[in-house]
Formats: sequence, structure tokens, C-alpha cells
Amino acid sequence: ARTPTSYERVMLKISGEALMGDQGYGLHPPTIARIADEVDSVHRMGVEVCMVIGGGNIFRGLQGSAQGMERTTADYMGMLATVMNALAMQSALEAKGIHTRVITAIRMDEVAEPYIRRRAVRHLEKKRVIIFAAGTGNPYFTTDTAATLRASEMNCQAIFKGTKVDGVYDKDPIRYPDAKRYDEVSYDEALQKNLGVMDASAIALARDNKLPIIVFSLDEPGGFRGILSGQGTYTRVT
Ligand code: UDP
Repeated sequence: ARTPTSYERVMLKISGEALMGDQGYGLHPPTIARIADEVDSVHRMGVEVCMVIGGGNIFRGLQGSAQGMERTTADYMGMLATVMNALAMQSALEAKGIHTRVITAIRMDEVAEPYIRRRAVRHLEKKRVIIFAAGTGNPYFTTDTAATLRASEMNCQAIFKGTKVDGVYDKDPIRYPDAKRYDEVSYDEALQKNLGVMDASAIALARDNKLPIIVFSLDEPGGFRGILSGQGTYTRVT
């Protein structure tokens, strides 16, 4: 199929909370199916798609350590939460006929494949969607950093961060109606002003690898495909 896009391989990063719909916790299958539709429409353009999904809808390391749990243990629990989300997304994608592989940064061979870079690249070449799970495999990191790391390793052209809002604002656009959206912002400005694009280590890694971060709204139906075709509103962090 001809692609009306210059992108050949991309990373889509979404938070775990994107999967919970209007619930306060866990997984909301209709919401997951809708996100799978977004991925499907981009995959149909012939674009190779990698995904990283957070775990915040189930468990965050910081939350566990605030409750007295050892931080590293809590972080491993957070990483395991991302595996559950990845399996839920795989199931939704395969229900649409999209071949999908879950690849984990922590070995659990009965559940999913371990991360082997060349194998992962081969999956993409065969047009399988890859969901990278268990973050970086290390405590004290986030899935934003995992997404940036894997996007760099897979030579993705950009990382697309799907959020509730259509870009990066100077202040929270949900609380402040006069918040101003950036069309484009530099990594350094995003870091200095703490604009909430991603956490600092993820932004720094993207900057060092010259990987653009595109922040867009995942709530807009057809939004992901639109952004890849240069339509709609978004912020480009470069
Ligand atoms: N996590 C980790 N190392 C990683 C990625 C994630 O320890 O490389 C843990 C960490 O505890 C984090 C949790 O997994 O709080 C869930 O990931 P994240 O907070 O990034 O999820 P999101 O906010 O995107 O839903």
C-alpha cells in the first residue's frame, strides 16, 4: 500500500492510564480496542510500529515505596504491570488481525519473547507490531525512558507520545484555559521549563540521539494516522 507519510518506522508511547478509560484503575477493553484501531490505521499505511505502554493504571514504583515497600521491589512490580498491559494490547491488536509480538526486558519465556535486538528488527521488517514490555528492565527508570531507548535501538524516526491533550502547553491546559500550546519546542527548553513532555532522563536521551518527540492527543479518533500524515495539532520536541 502507498503511504501518504514519510515515516517508515515509529515508536508509540502511551501511559498505562490511557488503557483505563474513565475508570480509576486497571483495564477498560473498549478503550484498548479503540487504541488498537489507531495502531491498525497506521499499520495499514505500511508504517512499522513499535509500542511501549506504561504501567501506572496498575502500579507505580513510587507509589509502592511511599507505602514503605523497598523501591527496587516496587519498581519491579511496576515493570510487571507493563507486561499485563502489553498482553492486553496484544490481544486487542490480534483481534483485529494484526500480528503482534510482546518483547520483555525481563525474561519470562513462557509469556513473551526476550529482547534480542536483531530479532526485534526482523519482526518489524515482517510488519509485526512490537510491544516492548517491562520497561528497561531496571528499577529507577520509567517507560518514557524505555520508549526512547528502544526507539533509538530500532532506529525509529520519531517517538509519538499519545496523551490526553494535543501537545505540550506552557501550563496545564485542563486547569488553565489560557494555556498556550507550543508547535515546536527544543529539548533544552522542555527540560529547563519542566514542560512535562516526558521525564528528564527520557528527554535527555532523545536529545542525545536526535530523536524527535511528537506529543499528540490519542483521544481524537484517527488522530495517530492524521499526525503521521502531517494533519492535526501536535507539538514537536526537537
Ligand atoms: N519501571 C521501572 N523501570 C523501567 C520502566 C518502568 O522500574 O524501565 C517501573 C516504575 O516503577 C514505574 C512503573 O514501572 O513507576 C510503571 O511505569 P511508568 O510509571 O513509566 O508508567 P506510566 O506512567 O507511563 O503509566
